[in-house]
Amino acid sequence: MRCAIIADIHANLTAFTAVMDDIERQGGVEEVWCLGDIVGYGPEPHECISLLRQTNHVCVAGNHDLAAIGKVDTSDFNPDAATACLWTAQQLSPEDVEYLGNLPLVIEKDDFTLVHGSPREPIWEYLLSTSTAEANFAFFKSRFCLVGHSHQPLVFRYDETGTCSFSQFVTSIGLVLGESPLIINPGGVGQPRDSNPRASYAIYDSENRLTRLYRVPYDIRATQTKMIAHGLPMRLVARLSYGM
Ligand code: ZN
Repeated sequence: MRCAIIADIHANLTAFTAVMDDIERQGGVEEVWCLGDIVGYGPEPHECISLLRQTNHVCVAGNHDLAAIGKVDTSDFNPDAATACLWTAQQLSPEDVEYLGNLPLVIEKDDFTLVHGSPREPIWEYLLSTSTAEANFAFFKSRFCLVGHSHQPLVFRYDETGTCSFSQFVTSIGLVLGESPLIINPGGVGQPRDSNPRASYAIYDSENRLTRLYRVPYDIRATQTKMIAHGLPMRLVARLSYGM
């Protein structure tokens, strides 16, 4: 089976559509695994939920998904994120609110545990250092864990000696899933933050146990133009150009 692993769409329909088109170009997938933050920051939250729901998918809740429906409060958000969250809440249909409200925090699928932030703290914790990642290997039972939230394509590996190492997840090298437990982040679809503005996602193929990262160019200006038209914060508009 082939699965697309996507995270942090953030209401960027242009990026999400480019990723879905790229998935088809790569031969298609049977399932889409989404790691949360469908909405927040970007200009088309309702449309992104609709497009995701047209796919055969599973999805966990992200902090922005729950903030947009008032299930977590935005006091931990920076002012721009909070402004975008208030705007997002006004764009959602009753069906969108119900859909987001029913998203689980954790999904277990085959050899994988899916969460937004971390297995220890599914909503809020960022996995960006080996020390934080190392502590989190005790919090999932499957061999592999898929996370989003940091918008950075990263792989944390826990080896036989009990040490945790990390590497950038890059497009040139397929990641073979072997015996070592891994925590994998496919990067962000709608707001990449690794200084590469291209949309980021991965495809997992259960037949050869290979996970591959893809980076997809999209019409960043189109998303930015819509954000400006909706009066979304300029800092959020600008960062898409730099992938930061
Ligand atoms: Zn996010």
